[in-house]
Amino acid sequence: MQGMSITPCSLPPECETLRAEVRAFLAADLADFPVEKRVRNWIGADPEFSKRLGARGWIGMTWPKRYGGQERTALERYVVMEELLAAGAPVAAHWIAERQSALLLMRLSPEILAPRIVPGIARGETYFCIGMSEPDSGSDLASVRTRAVRDGDAWVINGRKVWTSGAHRSQYMIALVRTGAAGEQRHAGLSQFLVDMRTPGLTVRPIVNQVGEHDFNEVTFDDVRVGHECLLGNEGEGWGQVNAELAFERSGPERYLSSTQLLLEMLDEADADNERQAVALGRIVAQYASLRQMSLGVSGMLARGENPMLAAALVKDQGALVEQAMPDIGHDLFGGSVAPGSALDTTLGYTARAVPSFSLRGGTREIMRGIIARGLGLR
Ligand SMILES: Cc1cc2nc3c(=O)[nH]c(=O)nc-3n(C[C@H](O)[C@H](O)[C@H](O)COP(=O)(O)OP(=O)(O)OC[C@H]3O[C@@H](n4cnc5c(N)ncnc54)[C@H](O)[C@@H]3O)c2cc1C
Repeated sequence: MQGMSITPCSLPPECETLRAEVRAFLAADLADFPVEKRVRNWIGADPEFSKRLGARGWIGMTWPKRYGGQERTALERYVVMEELLAAGAPVAAHWIAERQSALLLMRLSPEILAPRIVPGIARGETYFCIGMSEPDSGSDLASVRTRAVRDGDAWVINGRKVWTSGAHRSQYMIALVRTGAAGEQRHAGLSQFLVDMRTPGLTVRPIVNQVGEHDFNEVTFDDVRVGHECLLGNEGEGWGQVNAELAFERSGPERYLSSTQLLLEMLDEADADNERQAVALGRIVAQYASLRQMSLGVSGMLARGENPMLAAALVKDQGALVEQAMPDIGHDLFGGSVAPGSALDTTLGYTARAVPSFSLRGGTREIMRGIIARGLGLR
């Protein structure tokens, strides 16, 4: 049974100094940032904002200086993420690259690809998308059918990815594809490739989500040629690599702080003498406090080089539950009295439509619970 307990960790004083600095920056930078945009939280993208954040040294804070990082601690990075999420800052352009793609490049191609690409990520200029899911492969990721075939010094990729968030604004994708022979054990024949989104044969088409926005895409590969240096790690080891990547994808505070704007608006609107509101909102705040301890614990595990797979699945599952309950609580507490067009109206309306996806993206609730059950030795 790996990682059974999540050790709480407290933030050292230098983190609070940094928090004040980040808050002051965000208050000034986002002074005119409207609630309709804040509510999108880490799905909202503004490359210019990402560049301003990069110029502050707040992207890739823990990375080695030779890759453009600041060699600061995981907890300092956590504080910056917390403040960005609480402010509803438009971080989506660089979020995936910072959270997971750069880590893969530094670990799997430290001399060739990482020096070339990671400094641009740290500057907030270079963005990545995740090419895992396919039309018939989501939860069962090992069944991907997109295939790469070796051709001299290159690989030729054919197939289709779906639900690819941010593919339309990203310069690169890290794609999980099949390289093994047909009939080979399916976990064994997978590899990851870095793909330049401008490569001929690659087409990005928008998929409009249920909120009516263009955020994810379909990406097709028709004889897309990539150089052999773009094979990340060793051929056939993609399954292990992608699982390590998913632990980073699921472990951050965004897994319970996506709807902070709604909580803040409800707290603003609440009447101090209304006991029903106090109880309901107090319960959410208490859940936030527990989730924060768990999420900080996961950050501590990552900092110690431990495997946070089980703990991250717990935070993601519980975080999605709290967030998905919030719009109903909001309607119940304020439904009849919300002024049309008010900040609360906007956040309630948007969040109610967005939350169903929270227990799908990054792995579904059933898959998270399967991981938790396995980690607890129950299956
Ligand atoms: C907002 C959003 C953004 C996304 N961004 C990306 C992205 O950038 N890149 C990317 O690659 N993918 C992305 N995805 C795709 C996401 O990872 C998949 O939707 C998810 O993994 C589920 O896969 P699926 O849609 O194929 O559903 P399926 O796997 O077909 O699942 C359908 C239902 O069956 C259940 N189910 C499946 N298998 C089991 C099982 N073994 N036991 C119990 N229940 C099971 C699932 O829990 C689910 O309820 C995104 C999805 C969303 C909603």
